[in-house]
Formats: sequence, structure tokens, C-alpha cells
Amino acid sequence: MAQSSTVARPATCWQRRVCPLGKLVPQTVVVVFGVVVEVRCGHPLDLLYAFVPGTYPNSELTSFFKMATTGTIPSSVLIVGSGVFGLSTAYALAQRDAFRNTTITLLERLDFPAPDAASIDSSRIIRPDYADPAYAALMAEAHPHWRGDFGADGRYSEAGLCLVQDSGDESGDNAAHYYLIKALENVKSKLGLRVGRREESGQVELLETPDDVARVTASMGGDCGRRGYVNWTSGWADAEAGMRYLRKLVERTGRVKFRTEEVTRLHYGQDRVEAVEFAGDERLSADLVVLATGAWMQKLVDLRGIASATGQVLAYIDITQEEQDRLGGNPTLLCETNGMFIIPPRDRVLKVARHGYGYTNPTKIPHPERPGESITVSLPRTKQDDPNLNIAPEGDKACREYLAKCIPSLATRPWTQTRICWYSDTPVGDWLISYHPTYRNLFVATGGSGHAYKFLPVVGERIVDVVMGEERDKLGAELGKKWKWPARRREEDQVWTDDWRGGVKGMVLDEELAKGEVAAPRSRL
Ligand SMILES: Cc1cc2nc3c(=O)[nH]c(=O)nc-3n(C[C@H](O)[C@H](O)[C@H](O)COP(=O)(O)OP(=O)(O)OC[C@H]3O[C@@H](n4cnc5c(N)ncnc54)[C@H](O)[C@@H]3O)c2cc1C
Repeated sequence: MAQSSTVARPATCWQRRVCPLGKLVPQTVVVVFGVVVEVRCGHPLDLLYAFVPGTYPNSELTSFFKMATTGTIPSSVLIVGSGVFGLSTAYALAQRDAFRNTTITLLERLDFPAPDAASIDSSRIIRPDYADPAYAALMAEAHPHWRGDFGADGRYSEAGLCLVQDSGDESGDNAAHYYLIKALENVKSKLGLRVGRREESGQVELLETPDDVARVTASMGGDCGRRGYVNWTSGWADAEAGMRYLRKLVERTGRVKFRTEEVTRLHYGQDRVEAVEFAGDERLSADLVVLATGAWMQKLVDLRGIASATGQVLAYIDITQEEQDRLGGNPTLLCETNGMFIIPPRDRVLKVARHGYGYTNPTKIPHPERPGESITVSLPRTKQDDPNLNIAPEGDKACREYLAKCIPSLATRPWTQTRICWYSDTPVGDWLISYHPTYRNLFVATGGSGHAYKFLPVVGERIVDVVMGEERDKLGAELGKKWKWPARRREEDQVWTDDWRGGVKGMVLDEELAKGEVAAPRSRL
């Protein structure tokens, strides 16, 4: 029996590849026994396809049409994970009229904010400085929010980002050097930032010598790099405060039910997730399950060769009020050569960290989708698992040396705290925002690859666009392609990204921890 459903809201014309008018028009989806046989865009050329059922390429049967076959808009959505991706998705869903009758539930394993989540920390860099123009454009969308209410009350500080090079290969083949050159090109040409000194209303300042670098980082008093540039329109956010702010916005909608529950497994049917289970064997089902559990994803879905957890090192020191006043106005310093960075201090705490290849933590677990089988994947280990877990000696040394080099006056100040914080890394640094190819009511939002926080104010809207199969604009189409489920899993190297990073590839957490004791963090002040 044919069943025709007219999609009430405009969506992108699916015929856009052949239709000269390819534009926003209402569409009709004809379904026979649950199979889409006809998708009408309303333009005469759609007849080319309409009379030849089965000619619709699979890739064109977007998630939106999948939704149409199952009753258009889901009546229940279950989001697992309350980090940047999960919480922002909840907010966007709660605000969309199309979901006004949908029950939205957000599950988080720890009381919000989860202290070991990637989204929760003292600070995160907010920058449009990207080699990839799509992320630079997405940042252009997010930036006004940080400069407005989202970043108010100290949640955002626009102190600049100084991206430098220290030594090494400048041939252009080097991924880090390429990143710096492309990022500079993008902020100048694509975002139209003015080049010149800040005193002369410049927004981006080229730093061609060590003296230039020293000039913009003068109060640090050390050797901060050889060359690079500073973007005065970049800044940093108080990461936890930003998440708390968004959580309040979500609560205010009154549309989302929050529960503190750790999902222990998904119950997979042949082509859908039948239920999610939490401790105590309780189960919940939903028309749509959005999995946004960051670096913990592999526990619940097999992402081998698609995304993997890598542990990054962070170290914090207490500083005096005089030091806070002196260092607080500096730009963030990020060294492309080794991935080390120092974000200006907040509340008399200064952080040194590394954007690196990180550590892998191979762990044997039951295969999340195939009962009876087991797999080995990298999973986070945090202070929630072991309160005495500190960074490994090599990470301690890297942070210490960088601090001593850039701010010699703090060279011997003991760490107050150290932390291993986990990225969900993808092979090239693009996120994974996509329906699962097998389980049609499972949507994944992960693979932040160390750079998703800055998009907190806007990324939920873009995620829900993908949920709906909508391409709001050219940027949406481009992002949708970057974020889609990869055609093949990377089998040869399942862990390490090719995105630009510092440190070395191949470090295993237990092996690095076994290399020696690190002095226990303590406060000197
Ligand atoms: C050290 C570090 C520095 C970074 N620096 C920057 C930066 O400067 N700028 C920038 O833009 N980005 C930065 N990032 C990246 C950014 O923080 C992340 O990309 C982003 O926060 C990832 O969000 P997420 O929602 O995927 O993961 P998370 O924030 O980790 O959220 C996942 C949530 O899922 C929960 N969860 C996990 N398993 C379960 C389960 N079974 N059941 C229920 N809940 C579960 C977790 O508790 C957690 O709250 C950095 C990341 C790190 C680690």
C-alpha cells in the first residue's frame, strides 16, 4: 500500500544535482511497505526519478527521508553524554518547533558537570585560526555569541592567540608548519582580518623574529618562540563556566529531562537500537538515540578505525595575585612545533598543556555490538578510575621544560594538579556527526579531536541539521560531508590521527606511567 507524506517544512531539494532550480521546495515522500520509492521535489525534472522507483542512490536517501519512513519526527530522543556535543544537541532540539512534541532525555554518567569530561576544564582556546576554511567559517558563526551573552561574566576573554614556531622543518611538508601558514592565510583572506600592529588597529600581527614574539609575550619573560603570528581577535573561555551557562539555557526551556545514569550497553537489533541499559539493568527505548559520550564512545559502539581515545597532558600551578595581574593579559601561546600551550591564568591558576598525539590506553572489552566477542580499544582512564593518576614522566618533563622556557620565573613552581584529559580522535581531525550506517535510529556525535569546545554556542544547531538531513547553507553541506560516517575504517592505524600534533606517536599510557615516579602535585602558595 502506498503511503504519501508531504513534508510540511521546506528541505533542500534532493534533486539539486540535476535540477537547475535546485532550491528550497516542499517535498513529497512516497513509501511502499516502509520503502521509499519516490521522492518528489516539485520541479518537473523530478519526474526523471519519480517514474523509475529504485533509482534513488542510497547516499541520497538522507536521514531525513529515513525519518519520513518511520513517522517523520521522532516522538522520543535519548541523548547519552552531556559534553559539548550532547548538551548542545539537547538545546537545539529543545528549541526547534519540529520537535515540540518530542520527549528529550539527556543521560550523563556523573553529576553535571562531569569533572573528567573533555568539555570541563579551567580554559579552552577560542580561535578562528584554522587551516580548514570550513571550521574557520563555523567559528565566525560562534564568535559573536562568545562576544555576547554566552561569553559574558568572564566566560570569554579576548586576549589573543599567539601561534608560533620554535624550530624544525619549515618546508611546507611539515603538517604543523602547513597548519600555521594555512591558518594565517584563512584569517586574512577568508575572514578578512586586518594585518598590522594592534596599536594601529591591526587584528593579526606577523611575528617575523624572536624579538617580535618576545614583544607580544613580554610579561612572560622567556623564550616564547622564533616566529609566527598573533591573532588579537582570538581568546579563551572558562570551559566549565560555558558548559554551566549552556546547561542553564537548556533547563530554562523546560523541555529536557536530565538523568544521572551510566549507560552500560546498547541493545542492538538487526537494524536499530532497541534499548539502552544502565546500571541496575534498567532499560530505556527511544525513536532516536544520540550517542555523544566523547572518548568513551567505544564502550557502546564499535568505532575501531573511525575514532579513538587519546590521553592529553595538562599541568596546573598556583600563582600569586601579582603574577596573575602580570600574566593575565597575555595572549594564549601555542607552539606548532611541539603542540605545547599556555593559556593565560584565571583565578591565580596557570595551565600548561600539550595538543599531542597523546597516550593510548588499550583495553579489552566485550564487543559492544556482538555478544560473545571481545575487542581491544583505547578507553579513557581518569581520576574517577584512579584518584592518584597523574601525568606520566615524559608529559611532566614536556610541561615543565616548556614552562621554564617561556616563564622562567615559574620554572620550579610545583604543580598543584595534573590531569590526563581524553580526546576522541579521528584520522584527520574531522568530527563524526552522523547516523550509524547499520542501526537507523542511532545517531553519533563525537570525534571532537581536541578542537570542538569553541563551537559550543552553535554546534548543536549544526548537529540537528544533520539529524534532519538538512543543508541550511553551503557551509552546512560542506560540514555534512566532513562529518559523515567514513566509507572505510582505517585498519592499518586505528589510534593515531594525522591531524597536526606535538609529541610523538605511539605512546601507551601504562608503559609511560611505568617509566618513573612524578612528584605528587602540591601547592606552594
Ligand atoms: C586537554 C584538552 C584541551 C582541549 N583544548 C581545546 C581548546 O583549546 N579549544 C577547543 O575548541 N577545544 C578543545 N578541546 C576539545 C574539546 O574540549 C572537545 O572536543 C569537546 O569538549 C568534546 O566534547 P564531547 O561532548 O565529545 O565529550 P565530553 O566533554 O567528554 O563529553 C562526553 C560526556 O559523556 C559522558 N559519558 C561517557 N560515557 C557515558 C555513559 N556510558 N553513559 C552516560 N554518560 C557517559 C561523560 O561523562 C561526558 O560528560 C580540548 C580537549 C582536551 C581534552
